[in-house]
Amino acid sequence: MSMENFNIGYHCTGKQCELGRGGKVAMRWIGTDFERRDYTFDDLNRTTNQFANALAGLGVRRGEVLFTFLPKSPEQFVAFLGSLKAECITGTLFSNFGEDALIDRIGASEACLLVTRKSLYRKIEKVRDRLPALRMVILTDIQEDLSTDVLSWSRLMAGASPDFAVPVTDPETPSVLHYTSGSTGKPKGVLHRHRSLVKQTQTARDILGLRDDDIYWCTADQGWVTGTSYGIIGPWSLGITQVHFGGGYDARNWMELIEREKVSVWYTAPTALRMLLREEASLYGEFNLKELRHICSVGEPLNPEVITWGREVLGKDIFDTWFQTETGAIMISNRPGLAIRPGSMGIPYGDVKAGVIADDGTELGVGAQGNLCLRSGWESMFITYLKNESAYQSKFRNGWYMTGDMAWRDEDGYYWFLGRSDDVINTSGHLVSPFEVESALLELPEVAESGVIAAPDELLFEKVVAFVQLHAGFEYTPELELKMRIHVANRLSSVATPQEIFQVEALPKNKSGKIMRRVLKARYLGEEMGDISTLEERQ
Ligand code: AMP
Repeated sequence: MSMENFNIGYHCTGKQCELGRGGKVAMRWIGTDFERRDYTFDDLNRTTNQFANALAGLGVRRGEVLFTFLPKSPEQFVAFLGSLKAECITGTLFSNFGEDALIDRIGASEACLLVTRKSLYRKIEKVRDRLPALRMVILTDIQEDLSTDVLSWSRLMAGASPDFAVPVTDPETPSVLHYTSGSTGKPKGVLHRHRSLVKQTQTARDILGLRDDDIYWCTADQGWVTGTSYGIIGPWSLGITQVHFGGGYDARNWMELIEREKVSVWYTAPTALRMLLREEASLYGEFNLKELRHICSVGEPLNPEVITWGREVLGKDIFDTWFQTETGAIMISNRPGLAIRPGSMGIPYGDVKAGVIADDGTELGVGAQGNLCLRSGWESMFITYLKNESAYQSKFRNGWYMTGDMAWRDEDGYYWFLGRSDDVINTSGHLVSPFEVESALLELPEVAESGVIAAPDELLFEKVVAFVQLHAGFEYTPELELKMRIHVANRLSSVATPQEIFQVEALPKNKSGKIMRRVLKARYLGEEMGDISTLEERQ
């Protein structure tokens, strides 16, 4: 009996070749020096086969975890899809991560292999003795192996066959692993399965609106879920040509790229759009953006001003989409054929059933504010938090998955985002755990207590604000403030680095000694707290 093959690696490469797209450009890689290199689906198929064979040669078995720790680069895509072909669990680490962030992911998942480059390997070397399960490291920018367990990408690939028999993969087979930060505890490893492909393909077609002749550009880094679900899987499973750019934000470079490469579908984030909005409108007159048909946004609320700017300056609508690491694919969105209501995330997609639920688990009606929930069972739903089944179970109530977001629904079924129900900070689309920042600050000998909150920010949506109480005998100086910032950046990432730090005499705590972030936030915002007894219960 033949079974359908759900293997994501196969769908994004070999299947496209079978469909006659072997010679079609899968990826136009544009480096930081603006040099372009094209990779056809055939190239992608052969190199991912080589990587899968290289893994087998190294004794990496199906079900084992491996990570890439790379800036945007062609090897990242090859390693990701090649390891999925081999039915390994593959994760991507944001190249800006610091030592603690790395240990919390590579260590906790017991990953056996890491693909990185020389400059980033220095961070790993420092903590490698704390990663006993990590058997091998592959460096993409060395020609010869450094040792028996620090290997050269090019040597391994040169010795690996471009033919690989991709297994017929069951849809429930684990696939992609992304860590996400919560308001308490360590980051959680969100584990997906090959079945996610179904929703990622459908949404890339119906929400991103991808068609065969499109040139598509997703600006998200592969370290986050958008970068894999919509920077790899969705578009390539449809055989679409993607542009990937190794450089960072620059308004002129971005517009030039869209014009020159004839980008027709563009998926980006509100912070980037707000940065573009701040540029002189005349800049956009210099570029011919006529090929650009469809713009989508994800990661943070999309303010109505940005939609107005898009219409007036670019002459385009911007479609807000909502999803999260756990949902694997877009769940709620604006999309072609639906009228945009500026400020709303849109309507649940297809068979996705969303609801607004009270804290006691009852479903609320139109207009009521509550927890944004989803009925379990969509194809790209995560299967667990790796090695943390109890945290996974705690996300469900009465058959609903609790997203952690607060929202309300209007009479036509459009959803409106209100904020998080927890203390997680969303800074330029990246979730930051206040707990992790507090813990990093506490590692410094000067810091006795710390409390970290999200504060509103016009550009980043939210910024990280820290309150610290020093040990007796220490003085709060600009040098100490800089030291705290650098420490958080080195331990976690520059995204988590506090934008503002305040010294306080004492931090507000509840009866059980827990720091009350909500009180800190109200004080920061200059709000009157009134009776805080109920707040204590919610902490
Ligand atoms: P992550 O799991 O890191 O992708 O972050 C997901 C979270 O980002 C969601 O739970 C929301 O809080 C936020 N988010 C994502 N998309 C949107 C959106 N379109 N509007 C508002 N918040 C969003």
